[in-house]
Amino acid sequence: MKRPLSTIDLHSHSTASDGTLGPAALVAAAAAAGVTVLALTDHDSTAGLDAAQAAAAAHGMRLVPGVEISVSWERHTLHVLGLGIDPQAPALQRGLARLQAQRETRAEQIAARLDKAGLPDALARARALAGAGQVTRTHFARALVAAGLSKNLKKAFQRHLSAGKPAYVKTAWADLGEALDWIRAAGGEAVLAHPARYDLGPATRSRLLEAFRQAGGTGMEVSCGSSEPAEVEQLAAEAQAHGLLGSLGSDFHDPAQHWLGLGRLHPLPATLPPVWSRWGL
Ligand code: AMP
Ligand code: MN
Ligand code: MN
Ligand code: MN
Repeated sequence: MKRPLSTIDLHSHSTASDGTLGPAALVAAAAAAGVTVLALTDHDSTAGLDAAQAAAAAHGMRLVPGVEISVSWERHTLHVLGLGIDPQAPALQRGLARLQAQRETRAEQIAARLDKAGLPDALARARALAGAGQVTRTHFARALVAAGLSKNLKKAFQRHLSAGKPAYVKTAWADLGEALDWIRAAGGEAVLAHPARYDLGPATRSRLLEAFRQAGGTGMEVSCGSSEPAEVEQLAAEAQAHGLLGSLGSDFHDPAQHWLGLGRLHPLPATLPPVWSRWGL
């Protein structure tokens, strides 16, 4: 089912992390798609925000400054969006600097494993694809595809990079509490990204949502670019039960993924208060 256009899209990536469009090109693509409020939420980086902000002004769009923070909770890796942040906030930048250093160390370890799996110079290849941005597993996946070792990104993850696969390197990212502190110190709203993607049973997810709200989280991503309406309904009910506001975002990375467009999102149920009510929208 084709997803309708939402003029609000609060989750997207640029070349500051694992998106393929630069921040200005991303904003232009969002404007062309009909999005009027866009959050740029790169992994553990705010480096694209200035350029995105300037482009948004030129297009008459509203850019919500954001970040997607890597968090370790129990034995799970979670993604927490900070939306409406002040990127200058020192506590936030100190925290992100630590995660960026961990990304560097992890990249070396992933590369050593991929070298063994038949991809020579994996680190140089991933760095070349990442340019000035953060090195992510997506860059290693793209390198595997470019070298003809994997047919597509999905297969590269399935065979090499997903949890439990040979090139997966377990990393202790930020604690949930500290990530939420950084977001709060930057004046932002903490939103749990794509809660359905963590492979948590219902009891664990409920415990997570409770811990998230207790630690100061304000919202939950109820609709993303891969959600179906039944899942949106289910997540909205959980958000409401835990006193969390609703959010939605495509998690756009690459126009080549033509099935996942900017702003192509099922709406939030009308009964769920949205996180953007906090910004008077
Ligand atoms: P990282 O934060 O470096 O571990 O990379 C995480 C990113 O990898 C996610 O944000 C996705 O963009 C991408 N990713 C994770 N799993 C998959 C998958 N199965 N297929 C495609 N991309 C994935
Ligand atoms: Mn990503
Ligand atoms: Mn994510
Ligand atoms: Mn994302």
